Amino acid sequence: MSEADAIHETIILGSGPAGLTAAIYAARGRCCPILIRGSQPGGQLTTTTVIENFPGFPEGIDGPTLMEEMEKQARRFGTRFVEGEVTKVELGSRPFRIWVGDEIYSCLTLIICTGASPKMLGLPNEWELYGRGVSVCATCDAFFYKDKDVVVVGGGDTAVEEATFLARFARKVTVVHRRNTLRASPVLQKRALQNKHITFRWNTVVTAILGDKESGVQGVRLRDLISGEEKELSCDGVFVAIGHTSNTGLFREQLEIIDEGHGEGYIVTRNGTETSIPGVFAAGDVQDPYFRQAITAAGTGCMAAMQAERYIESLNEEKEGAE
Ligand code: NAP
Repeated sequence: MSEADAIHETIILGSGPAGLTAAIYAARGRCCPILIRGSQPGGQLTTTTVIENFPGFPEGIDGPTLMEEMEKQARRFGTRFVEGEVTKVELGSRPFRIWVGDEIYSCLTLIICTGASPKMLGLPNEWELYGRGVSVCATCDAFFYKDKDVVVVGGGDTAVEEATFLARFARKVTVVHRRNTLRASPVLQKRALQNKHITFRWNTVVTAILGDKESGVQGVRLRDLISGEEKELSCDGVFVAIGHTSNTGLFREQLEIIDEGHGEGYIVTRNGTETSIPGVFAAGDVQDPYFRQAITAAGTGCMAAMQAERYIESLNEEKEGAE
């Protein structure tokens, strides 16, 4: 049977912890899932080094290995993996249709786990140094900066929260913010401003990250936006905390998306992982602007698979009732 004729029970988009956990549960629930891996197989965790807060790995585990293990588990129960990127989805009629290259896949339930991407500074070597001093997650990486000096870029809740968290480990935390007032909420601001390990560089931007692949981050070059003066500041880590963008471009105009304020651009979910279209579920960072942890993504992936399974059962019951 060609793809054109097949109607799959469940298709999962994305291969981070949410997508792979959804696949493990859906496969074990006999929903015969197809998982379309997307543009960054394994998701954001493949760009991190050691993950020390995923339960079950007391010695830590590196991101790519954790993702490989999850993938093996999903394969073991019969998930079919499809390489490629989805270019279009049609959720307005049933079955739902998903375009990947020249193929069109049809399904009864869709689980969206397309994740989010951290906003970066746009500096030429920031990806080369990612995981070698450049980070976007203090919760994941602060431990590696015990008694070291770090820079946090940004002035919102994330930056201030990350700086406060880092200050528990690092010797000195310098927050570099492009304006002279923080966007962060007053309580978080107060906590950071009073912390003696944190200093602020106002009206300042990072114009270069110093270091290379071998030596890792050695420092940053800063520009004072008022005086125009440039100075170097030595540091061991740079935490970019200027926001995230959820990967929802394919679903705009089709699903309810948060249109402003906190979580703008993220998929709206209710009752667990239900989206505005019955049969379409969303899990992981694509619907979570708050926690963004591998373990929470995995948790919602599990929820989505169970909800998809129940939805398929309800379709079967309806069909039997009609016969
Ligand atoms: P955000 O509120 O959008 O703040 C981003 C910060 O980065 C802003 O200070 C912004 O400067 C700065 N920035 C943006 N682009 C930049 C660039 N290219 N170069 C330098 N600086 C740049 O993002 P967020 O802090 O990640 O927060 C996102 C949402 O999550 C917010 O609604 C926040 O309230 C929420 N959140 C809440 C909590 C909490 O309640 N505990 C924790 C984390 C996040 P400007 O100020 O000049 O725009």
